[in-house]
Amino acid sequence: MPFNYLNLVGNAELIKQLNYAIIYRLIVQQAPLSRIQLAEISHLAPASITKITKQLLKYKLIKEVDTQQSTGGRPAVSIVAKFTSYQAIAIQLGRSTITIELYHLGAHCLASKVYPLIYFTQQAVQDYLIECIEQFCLEQHKKIKQLQAISITLPGLVDSTHGTVRYTPHIDVKEWALAAALTAQFQVPVLLGNDIQSLALAERYFGSTQDVDDSILIRVHRGVGSGVIINQQLLTNHNHSACEIGHIHVDELGDRCHCGNFGCLENRVVNKAIEKRARHMIEQGYPTKLTLDQCTIATICECANQGDDLAVKLIQDAGKNLGFAVAIMVNIFNPQRIVLAGELTKAADILLPAVNSTCQAQTLAGLRDNLIINCSTLDDCSAIGAFALVQQALFNGSLLMTLLDDKS
Ligand SMILES: [Zn+2]
Repeated sequence: MPFNYLNLVGNAELIKQLNYAIIYRLIVQQAPLSRIQLAEISHLAPASITKITKQLLKYKLIKEVDTQQSTGGRPAVSIVAKFTSYQAIAIQLGRSTITIELYHLGAHCLASKVYPLIYFTQQAVQDYLIECIEQFCLEQHKKIKQLQAISITLPGLVDSTHGTVRYTPHIDVKEWALAAALTAQFQVPVLLGNDIQSLALAERYFGSTQDVDDSILIRVHRGVGSGVIINQQLLTNHNHSACEIGHIHVDELGDRCHCGNFGCLENRVVNKAIEKRARHMIEQGYPTKLTLDQCTIATICECANQGDDLAVKLIQDAGKNLGFAVAIMVNIFNPQRIVLAGELTKAADILLPAVNSTCQAQTLAGLRDNLIINCSTLDDCSAIGAFALVQQALFNGSLLMTLLDDKS
């Protein structure tokens, strides 16, 4: 493929977008700030700061507040972000459910509703999705002052640039132009992204990796996926794939995986695999408080936390195997933080030592010295990942530009 020089070409519009993005991001993350402070931190000319803040004020994205100077003089005018003028609809398109949530620009969830997903072809899901969004908007119309964007995350290969879904495990798709279809229907920008990668972004913007440049999120649910953030940017590739660590080989004599190989990580750590092993051990007569009809991942975590021997061993085994994949990621990417997400993390006190122990044994010392492995505090079943795409588009200026009037 020839080198794409277009990626390197700057123009007046792009520079304008970047300058607006820098100022908006500074105000969101460091406010209250005066115009003088904004000029100092951003190195933009005071005249540019005046122009940009005037526009952001006009469109109610920021507001002025009085802040008393420490010297006790007259109040100085500072600027803070105003989050409540616009709303975004964030959607997590799962395998059997659609979670639709309404957010204001400060990442506060204003409403949430879960719809059952009962269709599995591209057109039927699209029609149903439009119906659900319309119904949601109708129910929440009092909370929606001005809808700024719709953002959707789903598992699989999602081309965020062109707004298409190339593959998703639960719906039969062929270059599904979902963003264009929803834009035509709702007349707002529509953002698309992979669910795990978007969750890694959410962790970066709103969760436990806000203070580091390099982080990895690993989520265990039906599969095992990960999103890698390097130098504050989500790592993406030509195929739009997330890092599919679920198919790392961890078990010499493991079961056959749906991918065709044997002994994949997925078959040792996903919820269903742990539940299956628990049932097998109960049937073998292993002493435990777990019962065959109450053998969910939630119960297993609960029993593990209470010290049930079998439940503890199951979580430790999952942690040890997850640690193999974590160690590989540490050796390759050398992140400062690894965040684990999924139901399994309800037994964090048992899971984390097991992950850490394998990681210690299998990574280069120099790479793990500054590494912290922790569990996510975000709700990985919510649509916060989808909202993170809105935040990203505001912070890179692309979504800001759709709001602002260029002519003034
Ligand atoms: Zn596999």
